[in-house]
Amino acid sequence: MGVAIASCVPGAVQQALQGNGWPIVLGGVAGLLPDTLDFRINRHFATHDVDIIPDPLKPDPAIIALGISWAVERCAAMRRSVRVRLRAIRLASDRWQSYLIRFDPAKRKVIAEYGPVVDPGGNPVWNEAAVPCKTRLRADAKVRVDVKVEYEAELTVAGFDGALLSLEPVADGRVAVGFLPWHRKWSHSLFFAVSVGLFSWLVGGGIAGVAAALACAAHALTDHAGFMGSNLFFPFTFRRAEGFKLLHSSDFFPNVAAVWISWAVIFLNLGVYSQPRPFATGMAYCRALIAGGVAPVVFLGYFLKRIKQNSTARKRRSRPNDSKGMEQIRSKTIHQS
Ligand SMILES: [Zn+2]
Repeated sequence: MGVAIASCVPGAVQQALQGNGWPIVLGGVAGLLPDTLDFRINRHFATHDVDIIPDPLKPDPAIIALGISWAVERCAAMRRSVRVRLRAIRLASDRWQSYLIRFDPAKRKVIAEYGPVVDPGGNPVWNEAAVPCKTRLRADAKVRVDVKVEYEAELTVAGFDGALLSLEPVADGRVAVGFLPWHRKWSHSLFFAVSVGLFSWLVGGGIAGVAAALACAAHALTDHAGFMGSNLFFPFTFRRAEGFKLLHSSDFFPNVAAVWISWAVIFLNLGVYSQPRPFATGMAYCRALIAGGVAPVVFLGYFLKRIKQNSTARKRRSRPNDSKGMEQIRSKTIHQS
């Protein structure tokens, strides 16, 4: 997307066609920079207050649920933020036991449930149907304070370095639960976008600076359309604000749509500045963008929605047969004294 944004800056494509690719290259780098910084650097510097280390030889989701519940109550009692590190359960050099954490604010519960054994990429490595006992270990623990879940209500711990939960006291007495607290903070701010623009200006000139700043800002603003949000106004605020909740960053359609429209914009902008010019500017450009970029995306969205509706209808029709599987889930509740 960064390259697409950079290609919209007047002169960036012209300079590339004349042999100076800096504006386009820096735009592309700036578009990737916020997430690269977060996932490659920031996550490794994140600190924690509570460390939950499940025993690989004694699978017990109750310990995990109880540990999180204790941390939530401690956050509420002390009125200060608490960060909980959830360690991955390593079974072999390249095998992890995945587990899932879920909050149920209405019932004031935190639930921990063991999932499949996964490889380093998080993919299940055994066929669930081939396992003799289908029982999935699950436990829940009561939380004696109200919880506000800021983003997803579920977190799967399956990776190499586990996961981090942030617990923040909020003014109304509740505890806000946030996932990936190192993500989408200062790196996803307009201040950072301007800084990247200034650096790019020094390296590649004014057009490169504008292209990089816009690409970086576009990344943060696009992320803000999702659920997790971002901290657009750092350093005036240090908290990640909730997003507009228009789409999920992990969903197939928004990602495909963004890539497709970006390619359409790049293709059209290259055409606008080529000689002879295959695309006109103004209304002809808009028509070409709608026909080549927006229309296929709308068609794909409609097609996927129909598939989802059909699949939901099929599941509803076959629901009575699922009851046996549900009975096999073992659950126990821990009541704290
Ligand atoms: Zn991002």
